[in-house]
Amino acid sequence: MLLTLTTTHRPATDLGHLLVKHPDRVQSFDLPAGTAHVLYPEADEARCTAALLVEVDPLKLGNGRRRQAATQDSFTLGQYVNDRPYAASSLLSSALAKVFRSALRGESRDRPELAATAIPLEVRVPVLRCRGGADLAMRVFGPLGWAVAATPIPLDEAYPEWGDSRYVDLTLTGTLRLADALNHLYVLLPVLDDAKHYWVAPDEVDKLLRAGAGWLADHPERGLITRRYLAHRRALAGTALARLAELRLTDEPAADDSVEGGPATGDGAGSEAPRASLAVRRREAVLAALHASGASRVLDLGCGGGALLAALVADRRFTEVVGTDVSSQALTLAARRLRLDRLPERQRDRIRLWQSALTYRDDRLRGYDAAVLMEVVEHLDPPRLPALEDAVFGHARPGTVVVTTPNVEYNVRYEGLGAGRFRHADHRFEWTRAEFAAWVDRVATTHGYTATISGIGDHDPEVGAPTQLAVLTSTETSTRTEETTR
Ligand code: SAH
Repeated sequence: MLLTLTTTHRPATDLGHLLVKHPDRVQSFDLPAGTAHVLYPEADEARCTAALLVEVDPLKLGNGRRRQAATQDSFTLGQYVNDRPYAASSLLSSALAKVFRSALRGESRDRPELAATAIPLEVRVPVLRCRGGADLAMRVFGPLGWAVAATPIPLDEAYPEWGDSRYVDLTLTGTLRLADALNHLYVLLPVLDDAKHYWVAPDEVDKLLRAGAGWLADHPERGLITRRYLAHRRALAGTALARLAELRLTDEPAADDSVEGGPATGDGAGSEAPRASLAVRRREAVLAALHASGASRVLDLGCGGGALLAALVADRRFTEVVGTDVSSQALTLAARRLRLDRLPERQRDRIRLWQSALTYRDDRLRGYDAAVLMEVVEHLDPPRLPALEDAVFGHARPGTVVVTTPNVEYNVRYEGLGAGRFRHADHRFEWTRAEFAAWVDRVATTHGYTATISGIGDHDPEVGAPTQLAVLTSTETSTRTEETTR
């Protein structure tokens, strides 16, 4: 199976830098089910084409499938005699991810600016199995800025009356960032094929959201793409669609919105200006609470990949910004997002990233003006919550604590999310408004804080807002401020 990628950006041979594959060489890579080759049929200043050729070894594929006990072919030879070696599919997509890893992430050591720039690209996949036909190829690639030519391949050229096969010859043309192009292909080739060569585990949801970052949430076909990508596993698709709904910029329904979430109408006020996604509104609400508290030295506890940290660092009001997480992988991501290694020293000095578990007292966290627990508490097993309460409210004792967490009552508005399901596979619980209020009240009383509770996102008259927000203020601090202002 074959995929070619052409650019006419000058010098076109820079494509070699972006893909980290030299145009003068043929390189081969071992895959679990065969071998991938990268070669350049043409490479000059004006035009450069990289080809990814995947040779599937049906024996390896067969072995792998037997090992996973996933094969249910009704005839035994089906394992060996099939279209997998020839038609683009999830095998090509896995090869793409393996061979062009850094390009897929938008990274380039030699040409970082070019990696971030939209360049003229042409992608050709001469044989792609496409369930839904050429029309579906248009519907999934079209909204992403591609001009799509999908020509059905006749079943047999000698017998045109037999009609078309289920394969198309696909050409995409557009001006896009290479990383975006590769992520589109990575997700959409197996979606069009509507099959996966491996067992779809829950971590596929994360893979999909990662590869779909910036384009999937608002794609009119996100429902179909998500369900097919996750091999029609309903629970996984429900989780993924709920998470996508939180990232959405608009409340327009998806093309086949039978399983899609989010209320169809807003508050009316936002009909002209594009609306911010729930994730953005959450960040803004947290920032507003921090501003109102007057905090300048702040902790982002369970900072994850650093989405909030980036906003905190960009705001001069915050003289010291600390991100903590139990996961070193999260901290690495956060450091990368903040571009810590490239910041001027003066900026760097304001930022700290510490590995720390919220269930243990940590002396480094004492004495800060404010702490944020954004979408974190629900990641702890309920029996571990008292340890977090002690470590944060009892020991670290920031002046203000801002807590956000999902409102489980709102989940019925995410229609893909079956009853009893949470918005994220990693959530250990999600609270109703009453449960959250009771927790906040108990923590505040026990540790000497006063609290206010509100919602983030569009308020639904029946089930409330999608996100709950509590701001707890230490009574010690408020007395102190009162005294000083008096
Ligand atoms: N606050 C971030 C991340 C939320 S995801 C945001 O809103 O985007 C929850 C984060 O909490 C994860 O990064 C996870 O690693 C972290 N976490 C979970 N349990 C933790 C614990 N016991 N101590 C510290 N961090 C924890």
